[in-house]
Amino acid sequence: MKLQDLENSWIHQFAKPFIIAGPCSAESEAQMLETARGIRESNANVPVFRAGIWKPRTKPNGFEGVGVIGLGWLKKIKEEYGFLTATEVANAHHVAAALEANVDILWIGARSTVNPFTVQEIAEALKGTDKVVLVKNPVNPDLALWIGALERLAGQGVTNLGVIHRGFSTYQKTKYRNVPNWQIALDFKNQLPNIPVIVDPSHICGNRTGLAGVTQEALNVGYDGAMIETHCTPDEAWSDAAQQITPQVLAELIANLELRTSDISAFDDEMGRHRTLISDLDFQLIELLSQRMKISERIGGLKKENSIAIFQPQRWKVITEYAQQKADESGMSVEFIEKVFKAIHEESIEVQNSI
Ligand code: PEP
Ligand code: MN
Repeated sequence: MKLQDLENSWIHQFAKPFIIAGPCSAESEAQMLETARGIRESNANVPVFRAGIWKPRTKPNGFEGVGVIGLGWLKKIKEEYGFLTATEVANAHHVAAALEANVDILWIGARSTVNPFTVQEIAEALKGTDKVVLVKNPVNPDLALWIGALERLAGQGVTNLGVIHRGFSTYQKTKYRNVPNWQIALDFKNQLPNIPVIVDPSHICGNRTGLAGVTQEALNVGYDGAMIETHCTPDEAWSDAAQQITPQVLAELIANLELRTSDISAFDDEMGRHRTLISDLDFQLIELLSQRMKISERIGGLKKENSIAIFQPQRWKVITEYAQQKADESGMSVEFIEKVFKAIHEESIEVQNSI
């Protein structure tokens, strides 16, 4: 079965945004039931309840999940509160146990997606299943690896697929726990428009304050929904306490989301006018850049004839200074203009080098 040919129509049974909520980890039957009851009673539209049964932890000797006993709790939640259920699987044993317990949605975690052997093992254990399988992005920003995991699943006849963007790991200190990359998200959508995409703001943020903003950004770029860690008493959670929210806060977050559609028919004319202007400016930008490169090429010729080094730090300093000043005067982000000029300068050097 080819990935491009899959319809993945499973997503259409759910209202948008499609929300999966529940604790990072299943801890006890009481914690699971209390969280499920809270989400139900908040009246938020949450069709799927999640809980990690087996937890991939960075260091050993911590809480690594309650194991198969938690699958019984998920079953109970399905019966008592009518949720569909979801959990992470990381090897063939997990898959067998989750299928046996009739979990509805299985996901492959970020630490598993990086490993083709693991993904292949999981895919083979899932052979021919009609369950929904969601693939989190690998921890590193590698689109091919992410798509490769989906191809392995499709190769085993798993046809109800989706992906979860949970951000990418970095050693740098940022405001995120795992940095989101909306460009990769869009590249993904361009290559595989039929695969539903969901955001996991909890593992992107690592805290509670950023969740609503990241979820909204994802919806703005056309995401179908979100998986949000929710716990009856977040501060007491056994894993990822800092990023979990109560069912009440979850309901408020969902209520405040603004839905956008990709259907522009209602204001087609106005949009059309703006887009014509944008395209026209784009053509001018390209024409100007081409003229700039031609001059740069002439300068390159002069440097070569006179044996002068291509890179002239003094000149580059002058350019960055006027670019920054102009950006500032025109009310644009200086950082953005710096990036643009860096790219132009790199290309210039490339052109001069090739003379
Ligand atoms: C999780 O969803 O609980 C989890 C472990 O996430 P990730 O695989 O994105 O780290
Ligand atoms: Mn977690």
